[in-house]
Amino acid sequence: MNTYQQLIGNEWCDPASDAWIDQVEPFSGEVWARVPRSNAEDADRAVRAAHKAFNSTAWTSLSATDRGALLRKLASLIERDAEKLGHIEQRSNGKLIVEVAGQMRHAAQWVYYYAGLADKVMGNVIPMPKPGVFNFTRHEPLGVVLAITPWNSPIALTIWKLAPALAAGNTMVLKPSEFTSASTYELGRLCVEAGFPPGVVNVVSGYGAEVGEPLSSHPLVAKIAFTGGEIGGKHVNIAAAKDFKHVTMELGGKSANIVFDDADIDQAVKGAIAGIFSAAGQTCMAGSRLLLQDTIHDAFVDKLVAEVKKARIGDPSDPDTQIGPISNRPHFEKVLSYIDIAKNEGANCVLGGHAITGPGYGQGQFVAPTIFTGVNNSMRIAQEEVFGPVLSVIRFKTMEEALEIANDTNYGLAGAVWTRDLHRALYCVERIRAGTVWVNNYRATSFATPFGGYKRSGIGREGGAEAIKEYLQTKSVWITT
Ligand code: NAD
Repeated sequence: MNTYQQLIGNEWCDPASDAWIDQVEPFSGEVWARVPRSNAEDADRAVRAAHKAFNSTAWTSLSATDRGALLRKLASLIERDAEKLGHIEQRSNGKLIVEVAGQMRHAAQWVYYYAGLADKVMGNVIPMPKPGVFNFTRHEPLGVVLAITPWNSPIALTIWKLAPALAAGNTMVLKPSEFTSASTYELGRLCVEAGFPPGVVNVVSGYGAEVGEPLSSHPLVAKIAFTGGEIGGKHVNIAAAKDFKHVTMELGGKSANIVFDDADIDQAVKGAIAGIFSAAGQTCMAGSRLLLQDTIHDAFVDKLVAEVKKARIGDPSDPDTQIGPISNRPHFEKVLSYIDIAKNEGANCVLGGHAITGPGYGQGQFVAPTIFTGVNNSMRIAQEEVFGPVLSVIRFKTMEEALEIANDTNYGLAGAVWTRDLHRALYCVERIRAGTVWVNNYRATSFATPFGGYKRSGIGREGGAEAIKEYLQTKSVWITT
């Protein structure tokens, strides 16, 4: 069994408590690693190491071009170790091996992208009304950035924060989910190997209440970049507000995937499947509400059910598997409880609706791909994030009705529209209150484009050139001659 240590100031150390958290493989139920159960003392040491590094000449004497070079080195190491990292990620959260392989490739691309941006952050020279008076702006790093990440995509969601934060010249403390911390420690190891000076990247792990809260309320943390659920996000945001810390929040979703009757139905069926059943539905951007125009509703559902029935469910390390297990036991129970809620609310279960156990299903932490029809948008199954392979199908008649349903949610992370009518597509793009809208596709993302939520799905953006600004502050410089 692997034992990971905390990374503080480029040194590996045991947690102050000498307590550890087992990492359980979702498919087999086997404990395959243990990670530090860090506490407030460890949090303080990690933040102080990052703060010291932020003010050290080892870091401040590096030019933006030098920081870009370090990030390029890191990206090349991620590429070198992609298979190993993917394997660790897959053992941690039970994602399909094919899904994690793609995520590792993307992780390296993200780091290359921000490596290239590091020395392209430019201020302005602002024209002044009087001769002899000059003003220019500089964009400077914030200081210590705390990255708190969830269990569904540990490396990817850490990289989304780390790459722009380091490119901008900040230092970091990484706090992965207690369920899936191993791959973040491996990432820390690669940061040390790439040559980042001591304290620039630190990693601690453990529970939100024990280490997440002391980190979030630490006065030397300048910014918190959080991805996770609403409850944790609220705690972190309140802690941040007490010290006026900067925040980026990437939270949940209940995205509407709208199919009009003029859509390419076969493509839309594929999109609906990718939307909700990728990563067994454990993605923030899941298209968990499928809105079908009434004229195609029944035929579409028949086709969808027939396609999903063909999905190969099982061992996520098998490259032929299409739907894997639920990532951890408490979440498995939560997903099943939502299936009961939907049944009790009167939704019609046309596929799945139960756990899967038996030979080929490991410890049996699988939820059958589940489709509910007859869902009304006011039901809990349509309003609350399940974060599992559970699809709510909602019928609509007109475009206005579809848009009203799509926007009738506290969330606003993403949405999609399937139609051959460009006018209709663009009208919907304008009207959907979400940070990402896909037309005739679902789930496209890139390091080059912004991603984030409207409403309770988040604050700020990750990805694209604008995300580096989330890790910078502007200084206005006056010169008189
Ligand atoms: P979670 O909120 O339970 O945990 C996320 C992280 O926050 C973990 O590291 C956890 O230890 C930490 N945490 C929890 N309580 C804390 C506290 N009081 N103080 C400080 N840290 C605390 O979320 P999860 O169950 O790990 O992940 C699932 C959630 O993440 C879903 O709601 C999903 O939508 C969301 N998510 C969002 C995105 C996005 O980009 N919008 C991406 C992936 C996941």
